[in-house]
Amino acid sequence: MIPSNLISKKRDGESLTKDEISLFFKEYLSDNVSDSQMTAMLMAIYFNGMDEIELFTLVEVMLYSGKSLNFSHSKQFIADKHSTGGIGDKVSFILAPIMAAAGIKIPMIAGRGLGFTGGTIDKLESIRGINTSPNLNTFMNWVDETGYAIMVQSNTICPADKKLYDLRNKTGTVPSVPLICGSIMSKKIAEGISGLVLDIKVGNGTFMKTKSQARELGNWMKKIGGTFNIKTDIVYSNMNQPLGRFAGLACEIKESIDCLRGKGPQDIMEVTMCLGSKLLIQAGIAKNESEAHNIQKTVIKSGAALNIFESSVKIQGGDLEKFQRDNQPKYEKLLYLNKEGIISKMNTESIGWALVKLGCVLHNDVNNLDYSAGIEFFKKGGEKVSRANPVFRVFNSNKKRLNQVIRYLESTIFVSEDYNKELLIL
Ligand code: URA
Repeated sequence: MIPSNLISKKRDGESLTKDEISLFFKEYLSDNVSDSQMTAMLMAIYFNGMDEIELFTLVEVMLYSGKSLNFSHSKQFIADKHSTGGIGDKVSFILAPIMAAAGIKIPMIAGRGLGFTGGTIDKLESIRGINTSPNLNTFMNWVDETGYAIMVQSNTICPADKKLYDLRNKTGTVPSVPLICGSIMSKKIAEGISGLVLDIKVGNGTFMKTKSQARELGNWMKKIGGTFNIKTDIVYSNMNQPLGRFAGLACEIKESIDCLRGKGPQDIMEVTMCLGSKLLIQAGIAKNESEAHNIQKTVIKSGAALNIFESSVKIQGGDLEKFQRDNQPKYEKLLYLNKEGIISKMNTESIGWALVKLGCVLHNDVNNLDYSAGIEFFKKGGEKVSRANPVFRVFNSNKKRLNQVIRYLESTIFVSEDYNKELLIL
Protein backbone atom coordinates (compact mmCIF):
# COMPACT_ATOMS: atom_id res chain seq x y z
CA MET A 1 0.00 0.00 0.00
CA ILE A 2 1.23 3.48 -0.86
CA PRO A 3 -0.53 5.77 1.66
CA SER A 4 -0.35 8.87 -0.52
CA ASN A 5 -2.26 7.08 -3.31
CA LEU A 6 -5.14 6.29 -0.96
CA ILE A 7 -5.10 9.83 0.44
CA SER A 8 -5.26 11.25 -3.10
CA LYS A 9 -8.09 8.91 -4.03
CA LYS A 10 -10.14 9.99 -1.00
CA ARG A 11 -9.19 13.64 -1.53
CA ASP A 12 -10.56 13.45 -5.09
CA GLY A 13 -13.93 12.19 -3.89
CA GLU A 14 -13.57 8.52 -4.82
CA SER A 15 -14.61 5.77 -2.45
CA LEU A 16 -12.01 3.52 -0.90
CA THR A 17 -12.56 -0.24 -0.89
CA LYS A 18 -13.03 -2.24 2.30
CA ASP A 19 -9.44 -3.52 2.01
CA GLU A 20 -8.05 -0.05 1.43
CA ILE A 21 -9.75 1.48 4.48
CA SER A 22 -8.86 -1.49 6.60
CA LEU A 23 -5.20 -1.49 5.61
CA PHE A 24 -4.74 2.27 5.90
CA PHE A 25 -6.11 2.41 9.45
CA LYS A 26 -4.35 -0.80 10.57
CA GLU A 27 -1.04 0.47 9.25
CA TYR A 28 -1.58 3.71 11.15
CA LEU A 29 -1.99 1.74 14.35
CA SER A 30 1.24 -0.12 13.58
CA ASP A 31 2.99 3.24 13.02
CA ASN A 32 3.58 2.49 9.32
CA VAL A 33 1.29 5.40 8.35
CA SER A 34 2.42 8.65 9.92
CA ASP A 35 0.33 11.21 11.86
CA SER A 36 0.67 13.65 8.96
CA GLN A 37 -0.60 11.07 6.47
CA MET A 38 -3.51 10.17 8.76
CA THR A 39 -4.28 13.89 9.19
CA ALA A 40 -4.53 14.27 5.43
CA MET A 41 -6.83 11.24 5.27
CA LEU A 42 -9.02 12.55 8.10
CA MET A 43 -9.29 15.92 6.36
CA ALA A 44 -10.25 14.19 3.09
CA ILE A 45 -12.93 12.25 5.01
CA TYR A 46 -14.05 15.48 6.70
CA PHE A 47 -14.65 17.10 3.29
CA ASN A 48 -15.91 14.12 1.30
CA GLY A 49 -17.65 11.94 3.89
CA MET A 50 -17.80 8.16 3.62
CA ASP A 51 -20.14 5.75 1.91
CA GLU A 52 -21.79 2.90 3.79
CA ILE A 53 -19.08 0.30 3.08
CA GLU A 54 -16.34 2.71 4.12
CA LEU A 55 -18.17 3.69 7.30
CA PHE A 56 -18.95 0.14 8.42
CA THR A 57 -15.35 -0.86 7.67
CA LEU A 58 -14.09 2.05 9.77
CA VAL A 59 -16.27 1.00 12.71
CA GLU A 60 -15.04 -2.61 12.43
CA VAL A 61 -11.37 -1.67 12.18
CA MET A 62 -11.70 0.62 15.20
CA LEU A 63 -13.66 -1.97 17.18
CA TYR A 64 -11.35 -4.91 16.45
CA SER A 65 -8.23 -2.83 17.11
CA GLY A 66 -8.67 -3.90 20.74
CA LYS A 67 -10.52 -6.26 23.01
CA SER A 68 -14.23 -6.20 23.89
CA LEU A 69 -16.06 -6.74 27.16
CA ASN A 70 -18.33 -9.71 27.72
CA PHE A 71 -21.14 -9.66 30.27
CA SER A 72 -22.77 -12.95 29.26
CA HIS A 73 -22.51 -14.04 32.94
CA SER A 74 -24.90 -11.26 33.95
CA LYS A 75 -28.67 -11.62 34.18
CA GLN A 76 -29.15 -7.85 34.12
CA PHE A 77 -29.65 -5.73 31.02
CA ILE A 78 -26.32 -4.21 29.95
CA ALA A 79 -26.59 -0.83 28.32
CA ASP A 80 -25.00 2.57 27.94
CA LYS A 81 -25.52 6.17 26.97
CA HIS A 82 -23.21 8.42 24.96
CA SER A 83 -23.40 12.06 24.03
CA THR A 84 -21.90 13.70 20.97
CA GLY A 85 -20.56 16.45 23.24
CA GLY A 86 -21.54 19.91 24.38
CA ILE A 87 -21.01 22.56 27.03
CA GLY A 88 -21.98 21.71 30.60
CA ASP A 89 -23.01 18.21 29.57
CA LYS A 90 -22.68 16.18 32.76
CA VAL A 91 -25.58 13.81 32.13
CA SER A 92 -23.45 10.63 32.24
CA PHE A 93 -22.58 11.17 35.91
CA ILE A 94 -26.28 11.45 36.77
CA LEU A 95 -27.80 8.91 34.42
CA ALA A 96 -25.40 6.01 35.06
CA PRO A 97 -26.12 5.73 38.82
CA ILE A 98 -29.85 6.25 38.23
CA MET A 99 -29.86 3.38 35.73
CA ALA A 100 -27.76 1.19 38.04
CA ALA A 101 -30.18 1.87 40.89
CA ALA A 102 -33.05 0.87 38.59
CA GLY A 103 -31.39 -2.43 37.67
CA ILE A 104 -29.44 -1.75 34.44
CA LYS A 105 -25.67 -2.28 34.32
CA ILE A 106 -23.64 0.44 32.64
CA PRO A 107 -20.02 -0.25 31.55
CA MET A 108 -19.17 3.20 30.19
CA ILE A 109 -16.14 3.86 27.98
CA ALA A 110 -15.76 7.61 27.60
CA GLY A 111 -13.28 10.13 26.28
CA ARG A 112 -11.39 13.25 27.24
CA GLY A 113 -12.17 16.78 26.06
CA LEU A 114 -12.54 17.10 22.31
CA GLY A 115 -12.33 20.39 20.43
CA PHE A 116 -14.25 22.94 22.49
CA THR A 117 -16.23 20.33 24.45
CA GLY A 118 -15.29 19.04 27.89
CA GLY A 119 -14.54 15.36 28.45
CA THR A 120 -16.30 12.95 30.80
CA ILE A 121 -12.96 11.46 31.85
CA ASP A 122 -11.32 14.84 32.53
CA LYS A 123 -14.28 15.88 34.70
CA LEU A 124 -14.25 12.58 36.59
CA GLU A 125 -10.51 12.86 37.22
CA SER A 126 -11.13 16.02 39.23
CA ILE A 127 -11.90 13.52 41.99
CA ARG A 128 -8.54 12.78 43.54
CA GLY A 129 -7.34 9.17 43.26
CA ILE A 130 -9.93 8.02 40.74
CA ASN A 131 -8.67 5.34 38.39
CA THR A 132 -10.09 5.63 34.88
CA SER A 133 -7.61 3.19 33.28
CA PRO A 134 -8.16 -0.14 35.05
CA ASN A 135 -7.50 -3.48 33.38
CA LEU A 136 -10.60 -4.97 31.79
CA ASN A 137 -11.24 -7.62 34.45
CA THR A 138 -11.12 -5.01 37.19
CA PHE A 139 -13.46 -2.77 35.20
CA MET A 140 -15.99 -5.57 34.74
CA ASN A 141 -15.79 -6.41 38.45
CA TRP A 142 -16.52 -2.78 39.29
CA VAL A 143 -19.55 -2.80 36.99
CA ASP A 144 -20.77 -6.08 38.52
CA GLU A 145 -20.29 -4.78 42.03
CA THR A 146 -21.69 -1.25 41.93
CA GLY A 147 -23.81 -1.34 38.76
CA TYR A 148 -21.73 1.04 36.69
CA ALA A 149 -18.18 2.22 36.11
CA ILE A 150 -16.48 4.66 33.76
CA MET A 151 -13.16 4.17 31.99
CA VAL A 152 -11.21 5.79 29.15
CA GLN A 153 -10.25 4.18 25.82
CA SER A 154 -6.89 2.47 26.27
CA ASN A 155 -4.21 0.49 24.49
CA THR A 156 -6.30 -2.60 25.30
CA ILE A 157 -9.83 -1.46 24.48
CA CYS A 158 -10.49 0.83 21.49
CA PRO A 159 -6.82 1.74 20.93
CA ALA A 160 -7.70 3.04 17.46
CA ASP A 161 -10.13 5.55 18.96
CA LYS A 162 -7.55 6.56 21.57
CA LYS A 163 -4.98 7.39 18.87
CA LEU A 164 -7.38 8.97 16.38
CA TYR A 165 -9.21 10.96 19.08
CA ASP A 166 -5.99 12.77 20.03
CA LEU A 167 -5.10 13.43 16.42
CA ARG A 168 -8.58 14.71 15.51
CA ASN A 169 -8.46 17.03 18.50
CA LYS A 170 -5.21 18.57 17.21
CA THR A 171 -6.13 18.82 13.55
CA GLY A 172 -9.61 20.35 13.29
CA THR A 173 -11.13 17.09 12.06
CA VAL A 174 -13.62 16.43 14.85
CA PRO A 175 -16.97 17.56 13.34
CA SER A 176 -17.29 14.82 10.74
CA VAL A 177 -20.28 12.46 10.71
CA PRO A 178 -18.31 9.29 9.81
CA LEU A 179 -15.46 10.06 12.21
CA ILE A 180 -17.83 10.74 15.12
CA CYS A 181 -19.77 7.60 14.21
CA GLY A 182 -16.62 5.46 14.16
CA SER A 183 -15.37 6.90 17.41
CA ILE A 184 -18.60 6.53 19.38
CA MET A 185 -19.90 3.27 17.97
CA SER A 186 -16.58 1.40 18.22
CA LYS A 187 -16.46 2.26 21.94
CA LYS A 188 -20.09 1.33 22.56
CA ILE A 189 -19.95 -2.01 20.68
CA ALA A 190 -16.73 -2.93 22.54
CA GLU A 191 -18.62 -2.58 25.83
CA GLY A 192 -20.63 -5.75 25.11
CA ILE A 193 -23.94 -3.93 25.62
CA SER A 194 -27.44 -4.90 24.48
CA GLY A 195 -28.99 -1.43 24.73
CA LEU A 196 -27.84 2.07 23.89
CA VAL A 197 -29.23 5.57 23.95
CA LEU A 198 -27.42 8.30 22.07
CA ASP A 199 -27.80 11.93 23.02
CA ILE A 200 -27.15 13.81 19.81
CA LYS A 201 -26.65 17.43 20.66
CA VAL A 202 -27.78 20.00 18.10
CA GLY A 203 -26.99 23.69 18.09
CA ASN A 204 -24.28 26.30 18.25
CA GLY A 205 -22.44 24.62 21.14
CA THR A 206 -21.77 21.25 19.56
CA PHE A 207 -20.36 19.64 16.42
CA MET A 208 -23.70 19.16 14.66
CA LYS A 209 -24.95 22.70 14.14
CA THR A 210 -28.08 21.80 12.18
CA LYS A 211 -30.90 19.32 12.64
CA SER A 212 -30.21 17.74 9.27
CA GLN A 213 -26.55 17.03 10.16
CA ALA A 214 -27.70 15.64 13.50
CA ARG A 215 -30.31 13.40 11.80
CA GLU A 216 -27.70 12.08 9.38
CA LEU A 217 -25.46 11.17 12.33
CA GLY A 218 -28.38 9.67 14.27
CA ASN A 219 -29.55 7.54 11.34
CA TRP A 220 -26.08 6.08 10.79
CA MET A 221 -25.52 5.32 14.45
CA LYS A 222 -28.90 3.60 14.74
CA LYS A 223 -28.14 1.49 11.70
CA ILE A 224 -24.71 0.51 13.04
CA GLY A 225 -26.15 -0.30 16.48
CA GLY A 226 -28.82 -2.51 14.89
CA THR A 227 -26.23 -4.36 12.80
CA PHE A 228 -24.39 -5.25 16.01
CA ASN A 229 -27.62 -6.38 17.75
CA ILE A 230 -27.76 -3.38 20.04
CA LYS A 231 -31.18 -1.81 20.64
CA THR A 232 -30.37 1.79 19.79
CA ASP A 233 -32.49 4.85 20.54
CA ILE A 234 -31.61 8.37 19.51
CA VAL A 235 -32.50 11.55 21.40
CA TYR A 236 -31.83 14.95 19.81
CA SER A 237 -31.27 17.58 22.48
CA ASN A 238 -30.72 21.30 22.51
CA MET A 239 -27.18 22.69 22.71
CA ASN A 240 -27.88 26.33 21.85
CA GLN A 241 -26.86 27.23 25.37
CA PRO A 242 -24.90 25.46 28.13
CA LEU A 243 -26.67 22.65 29.96
CA GLY A 244 -27.33 23.41 33.61
CA ARG A 245 -25.84 26.24 35.65
CA PHE A 246 -22.18 25.15 35.56
CA ALA A 247 -19.64 24.18 32.92
CA GLY A 248 -16.05 23.19 33.62
CA LEU A 249 -14.40 20.27 35.38
CA ALA A 250 -14.93 19.71 39.14
CA CYS A 251 -17.89 22.10 39.18
CA GLU A 252 -19.77 19.75 36.84
CA ILE A 253 -19.23 16.82 39.20
CA LYS A 254 -20.56 18.98 42.00
CA GLU A 255 -23.63 19.94 39.98
CA SER A 256 -24.17 16.25 39.14
CA ILE A 257 -24.19 15.43 42.86
CA ASP A 258 -26.79 18.16 43.38
CA CYS A 259 -28.89 16.53 40.63
CA LEU A 260 -28.62 13.16 42.37
CA ARG A 261 -29.76 14.88 45.57
CA GLY A 262 -32.90 15.96 43.75
CA LYS A 263 -31.75 19.56 43.33
CA GLY A 264 -30.90 19.52 39.65
CA PRO A 265 -31.72 22.29 37.17
CA GLN A 266 -34.72 21.50 35.02
CA ASP A 267 -32.91 21.34 31.67
CA ILE A 268 -30.41 18.71 32.90
CA MET A 269 -33.08 16.62 34.56
CA GLU A 270 -35.29 16.70 31.45
CA VAL A 271 -32.52 15.33 29.22
CA THR A 272 -31.50 12.77 31.85
CA MET A 273 -35.06 11.50 32.33
CA CYS A 274 -35.68 11.32 28.60
CA LEU A 275 -32.51 9.27 27.98
CA GLY A 276 -33.13 7.11 31.03
CA SER A 277 -36.68 6.34 29.91
CA LYS A 278 -35.41 4.95 26.62
CA LEU A 279 -33.06 2.55 28.43
CA LEU A 280 -35.65 1.46 31.00
CA ILE A 281 -38.12 0.69 28.21
CA GLN A 282 -35.45 -1.18 26.20
CA ALA A 283 -34.66 -3.26 29.31
CA GLY A 284 -38.33 -4.08 29.89
CA ILE A 285 -38.12 -2.47 33.34
CA ALA A 286 -40.68 0.21 32.39
CA LYS A 287 -43.62 -0.18 30.05
CA ASN A 288 -43.83 3.45 29.04
CA GLU A 289 -42.31 6.89 29.61
CA SER A 290 -44.43 7.82 32.58
CA GLU A 291 -43.53 4.61 34.39
CA ALA A 292 -39.87 5.19 33.50
CA HIS A 293 -40.02 8.74 34.88
CA ASN A 294 -41.50 7.48 38.14
CA ILE A 295 -38.80 4.83 38.55
CA GLN A 296 -36.10 7.45 38.04
CA LYS A 297 -37.69 9.92 40.43
CA THR A 298 -38.01 7.18 43.06
CA VAL A 299 -34.33 6.17 42.97
CA ILE A 300 -33.32 9.82 43.25
CA LYS A 301 -35.72 10.51 46.11
CA SER A 302 -34.73 7.41 48.07
CA GLY A 303 -31.03 8.31 47.79
CA ALA A 304 -30.32 4.99 46.03
CA ALA A 305 -28.82 6.67 42.94
CA LEU A 306 -26.58 8.95 45.03
CA ASN A 307 -25.42 5.95 47.11
CA ILE A 308 -24.45 4.13 43.93
CA PHE A 309 -22.58 7.19 42.65
CA GLU A 310 -20.61 7.32 45.92
CA SER A 311 -19.89 3.58 45.87
CA SER A 312 -18.76 3.78 42.26
CA VAL A 313 -16.37 6.66 42.96
CA LYS A 314 -15.03 4.75 45.95
CA ILE A 315 -14.52 1.47 44.12
CA GLN A 316 -12.66 3.37 41.39
CA GLY A 317 -10.33 4.75 44.07
CA GLY A 318 -11.75 8.27 44.27
CA ASP A 319 -11.87 10.40 47.41
CA LEU A 320 -15.04 12.46 47.60
CA GLU A 321 -14.34 13.78 51.10
CA LYS A 322 -11.51 16.04 49.95
CA PHE A 323 -13.16 16.77 46.62
CA GLN A 324 -14.37 20.31 47.43
CA ARG A 325 -11.14 21.37 49.10
CA ASP A 326 -9.00 19.87 46.31
CA ASN A 327 -10.80 21.81 43.62
CA GLN A 328 -11.18 25.20 45.26
CA PRO A 329 -10.40 27.83 42.57
CA LYS A 330 -7.79 30.43 43.55
CA TYR A 331 -9.35 33.21 41.49
CA GLU A 332 -12.79 34.26 40.38
CA LYS A 333 -14.33 37.18 38.51
CA LEU A 334 -17.89 38.25 37.94
CA LEU A 335 -18.94 39.18 34.44
CA TYR A 336 -21.23 42.22 34.18
CA LEU A 337 -22.71 43.35 30.88
CA ASN A 338 -22.94 46.97 29.90
CA LYS A 339 -26.44 46.45 28.53
CA GLU A 340 -29.93 45.63 29.71
CA GLY A 341 -32.63 43.39 28.29
CA ILE A 342 -33.24 39.71 27.75
CA ILE A 343 -30.66 37.15 26.67
CA SER A 344 -31.76 36.23 23.16
CA LYS A 345 -28.77 34.13 22.12
CA MET A 346 -25.59 32.67 23.53
CA ASN A 347 -22.58 31.81 21.41
CA THR A 348 -22.13 28.46 23.08
CA GLU A 349 -19.14 27.27 21.05
CA SER A 350 -17.26 30.43 22.09
CA ILE A 351 -18.17 29.72 25.71
CA GLY A 352 -16.64 26.29 25.11
CA TRP A 353 -13.41 27.86 23.81
CA ALA A 354 -13.38 30.14 26.86
CA LEU A 355 -13.53 27.00 29.03
CA VAL A 356 -10.64 25.53 27.03
CA LYS A 357 -8.61 28.68 27.74
CA LEU A 358 -9.50 28.51 31.43
CA GLY A 359 -7.84 25.08 31.51
CA CYS A 360 -10.71 22.62 31.01
CA VAL A 361 -9.54 20.87 27.81
CA LEU A 362 -5.99 19.92 26.78
CA HIS A 363 -4.82 21.71 23.64
CA ASN A 364 -1.50 23.02 22.32
CA ASP A 365 -1.40 25.99 24.67
CA VAL A 366 -3.15 24.22 27.56
CA ASN A 367 -0.70 21.61 28.83
CA ASN A 368 -2.28 20.94 32.19
CA LEU A 369 -5.90 20.66 33.14
CA ASP A 370 -7.11 23.04 35.83
CA TYR A 371 -9.72 20.98 37.65
CA SER A 372 -10.87 24.01 39.64
CA ALA A 373 -11.83 25.91 36.47
CA GLY A 374 -15.31 26.65 35.21
CA ILE A 375 -18.15 29.08 34.68
CA GLU A 376 -21.32 29.52 36.67
CA PHE A 377 -24.18 30.83 34.57
CA PHE A 378 -26.38 33.11 36.67
CA LYS A 379 -28.35 33.99 33.56
CA LYS A 380 -29.28 31.98 30.51
CA GLY A 381 -31.54 32.37 27.48
CA GLY A 382 -34.79 34.19 28.07
CA GLU A 383 -33.63 35.66 31.38
CA LYS A 384 -33.43 39.36 32.13
CA VAL A 385 -30.05 41.04 32.53
CA SER A 386 -29.26 44.43 34.01
CA ARG A 387 -26.04 46.37 34.48
CA ALA A 388 -26.24 45.89 38.23
CA ASN A 389 -26.21 42.11 38.32
CA PRO A 390 -23.53 39.74 37.07
CA VAL A 391 -24.37 37.23 34.33
CA PHE A 392 -21.52 34.75 34.87
CA ARG A 393 -19.03 33.84 37.60
CA VAL A 394 -15.77 32.69 36.04
CA PHE A 395 -13.19 30.84 38.12
CA ASN A 396 -9.90 28.96 37.89
CA SER A 397 -6.43 28.90 39.45
CA ASN A 398 -4.50 30.85 36.79
CA LYS A 399 -4.97 34.61 36.98
CA LYS A 400 -3.58 35.42 33.53
CA ARG A 401 -5.91 32.99 31.79
CA LEU A 402 -8.87 34.22 33.82
CA ASN A 403 -8.21 37.84 32.80
CA GLN A 404 -7.99 36.88 29.12
CA VAL A 405 -11.21 34.91 29.23
CA ILE A 406 -13.37 37.40 31.06
CA ARG A 407 -13.00 39.98 28.29
CA TYR A 408 -13.67 37.42 25.58
CA LEU A 409 -16.81 36.09 27.28
CA GLU A 410 -18.62 39.40 27.03
CA SER A 411 -19.07 38.90 23.29
CA THR A 412 -20.75 35.50 23.74
CA ILE A 413 -24.02 36.90 25.09
CA PHE A 414 -26.59 38.66 22.91
CA VAL A 415 -29.18 40.84 24.57
CA SER A 416 -32.31 42.24 22.99
CA GLU A 417 -35.60 43.74 24.03
CA ASP A 418 -37.48 40.54 23.56
CA TYR A 419 -36.67 36.92 23.64
CA ASN A 420 -36.69 34.90 20.45
CA LYS A 421 -37.39 31.42 21.76
CA GLU A 422 -36.56 29.90 18.37
CA LEU A 423 -32.88 30.79 18.78
CA LEU A 424 -32.52 28.85 21.97
CA ILE A 425 -34.98 26.01 21.78
CA LEU A 426 -34.49 23.06 19.48
N1 URA B 1 -17.66 11.61 21.52
C1 URA B 1 -16.81 10.65 21.09
O1 URA B 1 -16.56 9.69 21.81
N2 URA B 1 -16.26 10.78 19.88
C2 URA B 1 -16.52 11.80 19.07
O2 URA B 1 -15.99 11.84 17.97
C3 URA B 1 -17.40 12.82 19.52
C4 URA B 1 -17.96 12.69 20.76
